[in-house]
Amino acid sequence: MYDNHRPTAELQALDAAHHLHPFTDGDALNRKGARIITRAKGVWLTDSDGHQILDGMAGLWCVNVGYGREELARVASEQMLQLPFYNTFFQTSHPPAIALAAKLAQLAPGDLDHVFFNGSGSDGNDTNIRMVRRYWQALGQPERSVIISRWNGYHGSTMGAASLGGMKGMHEQGGLPIPGIAHIDQPDWWSEGGEMSPEEFGLARARLLADKIEEIGPSKVAAFIAEPIQGAGGVIIPPETYWPEIQRICDAYGILLIADEVITGFGRTGNWFGSQTLGIRPDIMTTAKGLTSGYVPMGASIVSRKVAEVINGSDEFAHGYTYSGHPVAAAVALENLRILEEEHIITRVREVTGPYLKAAWEQLTEHPLVGEARITGMMGSIALTPHKASRAKFAAKAGTVGLICRERCFANNLVMRHVGDRMIISPPLVITEEEISLLMTRARLALDQTL
Ligand code: PLP
Repeated sequence: MYDNHRPTAELQALDAAHHLHPFTDGDALNRKGARIITRAKGVWLTDSDGHQILDGMAGLWCVNVGYGREELARVASEQMLQLPFYNTFFQTSHPPAIALAAKLAQLAPGDLDHVFFNGSGSDGNDTNIRMVRRYWQALGQPERSVIISRWNGYHGSTMGAASLGGMKGMHEQGGLPIPGIAHIDQPDWWSEGGEMSPEEFGLARARLLADKIEEIGPSKVAAFIAEPIQGAGGVIIPPETYWPEIQRICDAYGILLIADEVITGFGRTGNWFGSQTLGIRPDIMTTAKGLTSGYVPMGASIVSRKVAEVINGSDEFAHGYTYSGHPVAAAVALENLRILEEEHIITRVREVTGPYLKAAWEQLTEHPLVGEARITGMMGSIALTPHKASRAKFAAKAGTVGLICRERCFANNLVMRHVGDRMIISPPLVITEEEISLLMTRARLALDQTL
């Protein structure tokens, strides 16, 4: 068992000596030492020096019901005692996976009524790559294998998911992308819209999908994947014209639409799924994070009847993970969904706390450093700029000012993330109005200290 009471310096030294961190500048980390989080409750983290930190990121956009929910710990413990593991391969199943699949089918929109369980969002997107290719193969069109996604999108870190993602820095490391993936640009109107109205820009960016399909050849395209609202690239909320046109193009060419709901699923946008908020009819949704509120790892691809019937109706789909439908994760997910539903947490985001946060967040544009504030539900970002009218970028290397602001936030006991020179929030959905006000006070203070 680990020792929660070890002095911070000792923990930092051990961490530096043995721990390789994801998405971390290791040199910088080892110079400064990690900030060590030892416990959490509600929206509050406690570090190894006893500071109380307001978590404006819900961990990694995932702790939707907040930290420290005893019900989740209880069901995990009961499930571990009853059936800690069994697989769902080779004609077997178990009650938690069955109940969770049925619950997700009930919550998901349209005919999304089948579930393939994954371990995370990344391997979920790998599942989706293989599933859509398998779908077209089973229908006798194996040449339909190209998947179109978007630059600056994030779909995870496995070879497949990072290939779908459009993070060029990731592509430069490790032979990415895998074959059969193409990218189009994002609908980021504030950053790239120029003289166009948001409506014109939304249409123009959506039509890039049709152009790309024509360039590749319509008979070769299997699917388009996108996040309803792009998260880790800066919370890119598309103009209203964007998604209807994307949907029309997918329908017109008969290609499958995958909505990556790893962030937007389970309430973050004020509905159960971002597809409902944005009016999208996907064939597959990737989910993870908020499915268990991050208490245990789990992902789920929620699949339409149309696709599921083809997958089930052909030879065995040669794909799966040991932990697909893990009983403990499934039990925790079910309890997490019960909490979201019975405590009306998503309705509150839509009707009360979301609008309250939006009003406060948009006031940040009055700050001299903030060029744009955008937000839907409980996910938002601000663009930092030295000159609002021209939307200029800072002379320093992109991300330098964002990093300073993030560090100022952290010093003021607030977690906000930076993506380049954008600051992001995505707090637990249970955040109260009082806590939102405190978050805004600390964010403003950090902005003042960044000036
Ligand atoms: N898809 C989206 C939209 C994400 O934001 C993420 C993670 O942030 C992933 C996929 C990958 O999920 P995971 O980190 O659980 O593998």
